[in-house]
Amino acid sequence: MNIKGLFLEELQEFFHTMGLPKYRAAQIYTWIYQKQACTWEEMTDLPKDLRGRLTEQGLALGSLTPVNRIEDSDGTIKFLFELEDHNTIESVFIPEDERLTSCISTQVGCGMQCSFCATGQNGLIRNLTAAEIIDQLLTISRQTKSRINNVVIMGQGEPLANYEATLNAIKLMNDPKGMGIGARHITISTCGVIPGILKLAKEPLQVNLAISLHAADDGLRTRLMPINKVYPLSELMTAIRNYIELTGRRVTFEYTMIDGINDRPQDLGQLIQLLSGLLCHVNLIPLNPVKGSAFGRSKMERIHDFISALTRVHIEATIRKERGTNLAAACGQLQGGNWSKNDLAK
Ligand code: SF4
Repeated sequence: MNIKGLFLEELQEFFHTMGLPKYRAAQIYTWIYQKQACTWEEMTDLPKDLRGRLTEQGLALGSLTPVNRIEDSDGTIKFLFELEDHNTIESVFIPEDERLTSCISTQVGCGMQCSFCATGQNGLIRNLTAAEIIDQLLTISRQTKSRINNVVIMGQGEPLANYEATLNAIKLMNDPKGMGIGARHITISTCGVIPGILKLAKEPLQVNLAISLHAADDGLRTRLMPINKVYPLSELMTAIRNYIELTGRRVTFEYTMIDGINDRPQDLGQLIQLLSGLLCHVNLIPLNPVKGSAFGRSKMERIHDFISALTRVHIEATIRKERGTNLAAACGQLQGGNWSKNDLAK
């Protein structure tokens, strides 16, 4: 049994069946989520015989193993993690001054098949568990000896297609007795899974929502993102308006700029029409190269034209700062398992 991924109440219940008092569960919870312990031996304020007993019982304190990492000169690190069933996933650590961000995955592969994204190329293998999602953060914190204070759920997979595990992991990272990462520093990104957006709107959590938009016209969006056939733009926008109304929170739209595909004047016009008057922010992402893809990155001049035009009509827009492109660790580039495994010391 894996102890990581359990809420404090669940831990208390579990250890109660072993005859342990509640405060022991609280101590263990602190060791796991605040001190990133991954062995019972590290929990030095537990009696030695108890540590021995927990080790003997084979209670696991982790669900993934770091097997490789590559680091860029700006400090960005891409990790390759192996799961217990030997599938692999990738996560990224992006330090910037005081802000220590982790971009984490929610699925092995992805079933959404967005045409510009490496993750979708091999389809969905399986959902990650809440333990596997939270363990990416804990392991990155341990590996980098830093306290992650910003999380973007934008790695491999569609988080709202793995709703329950993703939300449980968010609650664990947000718990002040756990990792204590403020909800406003947690962003969940979706390609537009409407039932998940509607459900998220009703959660008592102040997390940020980002929508991968990439086109403001149904025909083009369906070509780039087949999910648009299931949840077309008009229905998606209704769900987003509902989300903003219920939460009062601004939504971010991600728009990957692809040369000659979605950066034409008519694309800009449709984008302005779609988003005018909405409480939102647009994040323009210069396309990151993906092996075998025919798509190219928009010219910087076009990206700046978009920024100016959007700003003129009072739609706040920025260009996503490039991090991790050299490592194939940027948006749309994560693939998992396509690089060699070298054992890493924990
Ligand atoms: S962009 Fe996101 S939803 Fe689309 S295939 Fe890639 S990981 Fe999946």
